[in-house]
Amino acid sequence: MKLLTGILTLLFSIIASSTTLGQSEDYITVNRISDRVAVFTEKSSINNNVIAIQTQKGIVVIDAMCSPITAGRVRELIVQEFNRSDFAYLINTHHDFDHAWGNQVFSDAEIVGHTSFEEALLKSTRDIDGTIESNKKHRQKHIDELENSNPDSARKKYLQEYIAFRTRFIDGLSKDFKPTPPTITFEDTLTLDLEDIRIKLFYVGPAHSVSDIFILVEEEGLLMTGDIFMDRLFYPMFALKDTLNVPNFLNVLNTLLDGKYTIKTVIPAHKEFWDRKKLILWRDYIANLWESVNKAKQQGITISEFIDSNPIKEKYLYLKELGHSDKGIQNFHKKNIKAFWKQRS
Ligand SMILES: [Zn+2]
Repeated sequence: MKLLTGILTLLFSIIASSTTLGQSEDYITVNRISDRVAVFTEKSSINNNVIAIQTQKGIVVIDAMCSPITAGRVRELIVQEFNRSDFAYLINTHHDFDHAWGNQVFSDAEIVGHTSFEEALLKSTRDIDGTIESNKKHRQKHIDELENSNPDSARKKYLQEYIAFRTRFIDGLSKDFKPTPPTITFEDTLTLDLEDIRIKLFYVGPAHSVSDIFILVEEEGLLMTGDIFMDRLFYPMFALKDTLNVPNFLNVLNTLLDGKYTIKTVIPAHKEFWDRKKLILWRDYIANLWESVNKAKQQGITISEFIDSNPIKEKYLYLKELGHSDKGIQNFHKKNIKAFWKQRS
């Protein structure tokens, strides 16, 4: 009997270790950055991040991927990572599909977002059949390329990941998809008291979207910035809307960076983390551009004169090292000027 138990234990440990091996090939990577915090990143071209924080009042999740399927897998991994399943809050950085269409998986928690969130979410989910169709077309193009060409190994990996990402998206939308808006909304700021930590939320939109918020976890020195501050694959996206609120945006950034709060790490909703220095670098870009655009308008300078005499500063050309082209960087800067120029000072 003892021998049988021993064999069974051995077999079980082999199965368990092969399961662990299998997890390393999961399409979600897990990065435990502290006792309280883990970051879950989807292996795809856009590398979406979900952050989970365990607190005395329960687990707080930030963002929910683009599909209930992906969000479901993240939820399983969070439970496994923290060995608990008391989800207290899901906070959405904004309403875009790649961060909020997996919300339904966390509907046992309170869902927190900006007051503009629900209307924007419902608008963007009005034509799910059309979204599924267009994604199937995109996916087919990639399947054709994979089958009919002879891509090098990097391209092949990209295509395989892309197809798998789109498939999770399409399958998640095809079965029981339910747009799930916040149950708690706020206008300007909100503080969530979790006993051991307090999470502070700041509205910064309209910027990338109408519903952008920043999420501060001071006890961990973390700031989550959604789709606004990224520099790999994307440019920082603080000026995508027709109507921006630059003064409020700067006000929040200045409040966060004036020394009252500890921010060590900035976690964007996609790709790699930033540090405080980089956040300051881009706060300065926005502050300088806003000031100089308004000064130029007062002086009667035309926008084309302004564009010609205000190229992007040297220190922002580090973007080239991250794979952005010279032309792309110039266009990015020009678009920011045009977006700021349209606003009332
Ligand atoms: Zn995004």
